[in-house]
Amino acid sequence: MKRINRYGIRSLERDFPNNESCLNFIFNTLHKPICSCGGTFRLLTGYKKYQCSKCRFRISPTANTIFHKSDTPLSLWFKAILIFSNAKSGISAKEMERQLEVTYKCAYRILSQIRSALKQSNEPLTGVVEMDSAYIGGRHYGGKNNEQLSRAMKKKSVVTIAVTRGGKIRAEVRPNVTADEMEDFIMNNISEGSNLMTDNAKGYDRVKGRYDLEKVNHGKGEYVRGKAHINTIETWISHIKSSIRGTYKVISKQHLQSYLDAFVFHYNNRYSDKGRFEVLLETLLHA
Ligand SMILES: [Zn+2]
Repeated sequence: MKRINRYGIRSLERDFPNNESCLNFIFNTLHKPICSCGGTFRLLTGYKKYQCSKCRFRISPTANTIFHKSDTPLSLWFKAILIFSNAKSGISAKEMERQLEVTYKCAYRILSQIRSALKQSNEPLTGVVEMDSAYIGGRHYGGKNNEQLSRAMKKKSVVTIAVTRGGKIRAEVRPNVTADEMEDFIMNNISEGSNLMTDNAKGYDRVKGRYDLEKVNHGKGEYVRGKAHINTIETWISHIKSSIRGTYKVISKQHLQSYLDAFVFHYNNRYSDKGRFEVLLETLLHA
């Protein structure tokens, strides 16, 4: 599938030329235009509120959203959301600071609020599902001749990933790659009976019988056997590793999951720039 439509700063300025149009969008997303009394809500000029034409009931559309009590104007918030939405390799607070011409603190706060709204779905993946684990994060230096490799590895986190072919991805920070952990991840994230593609790790054998398990043996140089491979996952892992290296340099263990949630959001909404922006806006409004 090709990207259906572009959505950049010019489209945003056309659709949301000012703070009022942003507020109007928020109102229309969260509220009905007609009051229960039969009157019609209209924007009170000079206030960020809508008022019923008959009973005078007032609604503040930004109440209970991340936009509430924020000093950042709505149109700037929308720009930040678009920039985040289009940054498929991630975006650092430093970069957002430059793009928006705001303080680092403001950029950092905006990004954390966006990321924390992006929780992954817990709907089971189904069909042909690839699965793999990777060591991600921490500083990379393994030392000359790898003598510090084990120390470098300890700084990394285990991330277990599953993806359906042509569909959605799931990525979780897990404590380790023992058979117990893998079984737990599989049972929680993948529908029983699915066609599960993995590498040759022994741990997967636990779920044989409950899943249609097909392994490829990387150790023996086997990467694809018929439709059995985990190339979709490996491509994604190398994308997020290089994105982390290029954009964030280092992500602490504590924050890794929320960065993964953002990468997963980008992957799962990869086909349309406009669609991704709209999904992100709606997600933030309902967070
Ligand atoms: Zn009313």
